[in-house]
Amino acid sequence: MEVLKHIPSKDAITNIVDLSIKELPAVSVVVVKLLKMAKKDDASISELVMLVESEPAITTRILMLVNTPAYRVRHSITGIKEAVQILGFSTIWSLALEITLYEQLFTTRVRPHFDRIFFWQHCLSVACLSRAIAQEVGYPNHDEAYLAGLLHDIGKIIIEVSGRINYSDFLNNLPKINGLLIEEEVKFIGMGHDDVGAFFSNHWGFPDVITLTIKYHHQRFEHLNLSQDSTLLFSIVSVANLLAWTQGIGSVNIVRHPILQPEVISAIDINKLKLHNLIERLDIELKNLSRFYNFSFPTIDKLRENLLRANITLSKKHTEYFYLTDLPHDAIKTPHDISKSLTAPHSSLNSADIIEATLKAIQADFLYDRLYLMEVEKATRRLRIKSFFEAASPHTLQIGDGIGITPFMEGFIECLRRKKPVVIYGSSTDECRVLKQMGVKEMGIIPLTNNNQILGVIGVDNALSGRPIQQHDLSYVSLVANELGMALEHARLFETYKTRATIDSLTRVHNRGSLDDLLDSSFKRARSDNTSLAIGMIDIDHFKKFNDSFGHQAGDSVLKLIASTILKLSRPGDYVGRYGGEEFVIILNNTTYDNAMFYAERLRKEVEKLGAILVKRFQGHLLTISAGVAVIDHSMKKASDLVLKADKALYSAKNQGRNRVVGNVD
Ligand code: GH3
Ligand code: MG
Ligand code: MG
Repeated sequence: MEVLKHIPSKDAITNIVDLSIKELPAVSVVVVKLLKMAKKDDASISELVMLVESEPAITTRILMLVNTPAYRVRHSITGIKEAVQILGFSTIWSLALEITLYEQLFTTRVRPHFDRIFFWQHCLSVACLSRAIAQEVGYPNHDEAYLAGLLHDIGKIIIEVSGRINYSDFLNNLPKINGLLIEEEVKFIGMGHDDVGAFFSNHWGFPDVITLTIKYHHQRFEHLNLSQDSTLLFSIVSVANLLAWTQGIGSVNIVRHPILQPEVISAIDINKLKLHNLIERLDIELKNLSRFYNFSFPTIDKLRENLLRANITLSKKHTEYFYLTDLPHDAIKTPHDISKSLTAPHSSLNSADIIEATLKAIQADFLYDRLYLMEVEKATRRLRIKSFFEAASPHTLQIGDGIGITPFMEGFIECLRRKKPVVIYGSSTDECRVLKQMGVKEMGIIPLTNNNQILGVIGVDNALSGRPIQQHDLSYVSLVANELGMALEHARLFETYKTRATIDSLTRVHNRGSLDDLLDSSFKRARSDNTSLAIGMIDIDHFKKFNDSFGHQAGDSVLKLIASTILKLSRPGDYVGRYGGEEFVIILNNTTYDNAMFYAERLRKEVEKLGAILVKRFQGHLLTISAGVAVIDHSMKKASDLVLKADKALYSAKNQGRNRVVGNVD
């Protein structure tokens, strides 16, 4: 198959998995034969019986299992043939497969950070769910879907059992920051579990469609132009994986939200799935299996937490469409009539400009006399006017100290809580007071939101003409407010993006330019406040060798790992920057020489520890660092004097044999 060429080569795998050791997962002929049966439409019962009977261990296990009360068989079953007749081909086939795989892959070496039983529970759940979803969405081969689900994460167990760096080590060193697990794997282990799994699946002769599902259960696959069936199968497994996660049965015992690829969303209409049926089937199957494997289910609290997280994500999406579906049917305007207002928010990337342009455009489309953008000041429960636009003179708007919200202002509360546009007529004394303060008989307020969070409120009124405010017009202004909310978020992101120019894109620490600025300002501050300032200059030892032996990408991941180790050990007031290629500088404000030396030594040890794990991946190459430490003194005129001193110390550390910290050399 053409697409199989994307599977990693044996050479690439050799760097990740030790192909020579005894513990290399070898799956038996039985598994391969069983796997192939899922593909065959006329897989005969006698073939399955023969196969199972040739493996006494499996036969015994199956007979033990089918005779437990879970299977509700009236008399005891003594032969595989009978078991197949009573329970059906599919059940016995899956049992045979599960038992064989379990015994071959899950019963050896256990490490603390990788809970194999929990992981196996995940595999079984995804398998059950995949089969059930396949039935619902009309995927022809249900057993194949089951199989794809069962094996989708097999790369993880391979890495755990035979990886140069095993999965426990990876999980143990996982940063707390929420990122995609698969990206962290590539950084630390050198390859994701999807690629590792796909290689072995192909190597063992598993059906191609299974190999591909293993490879693409996280990756994008639209570009591959696959058949409709393959697309559906990958999608089934991805959705099953997500459902298992929402049930608290993720693959590893940490909260990392799985993400569905866009092609999955278009292949399966998740809203149409009969979730209740799916979960019920999962429950029944897992209850049976749990007796056999001695599983315990996730606690209710865990379940609720995961459901909550999934819900929050969904509600964000929902909000984006909220106003679009809430339009009155008798509306006079069409989106075409208000195109000026709808595009105005996107006219700039500066928030003040965006707001001004939008208020003006709304005025032009809806002819309000006055428009104002109010921010919610949570502490004082006030709406404060931040920007305004008045169409005609004389200008009448008094900004004052804003509008104080009381529990009796129903209209305002409806707008803020339910995020709906409201016309304020003055239905309570408090609201009348506000209208009087604004000098109007009525006003319209429209929520300004992004991702369901209230950013503020747009107020409109006709203070001069006294024309009534139409509720249906406000629904259209809502559409504009929605655009404005998004545009303001884009502007905020743009600001962040601009600051990104000060961050090194590879290692996520300050880049050289920003580091020089920080060195300068820290130096001046230390001088004027008469406080101490220390810096550490860190250089990776024999870094060139990592590039030369394992490629530039491996070198890059070493740089990233070192940077995150430094960040992990640094305190909030410290600055970390990339000085050049594989050199980093740490600015330690308010730190004495002794403390800086102590810090650098801790860092050196931490990297040594990391190196001891990574040496399994980078055979023969121990990852270590050398550090030079310097502290500010009266002879120094500028920051570069301090850097020079640290650089000299570093040079001396290298000369003394590397993997050491040297301080203040003159
Ligand atoms: P020493 O222990 O003396 O510091 O030896 P070294 O090999 O670490 O130092 P050397 O200065 O000889 O080599 C540094 C190498 O770092 C050379 C360069 O190709 C590599 N390098 C610099 N920037 C990057 C980068 O962004 N990514 C990768 N992968 N390599 C880089
Ligand atoms: Mg996975
Ligand atoms: Mg170096």
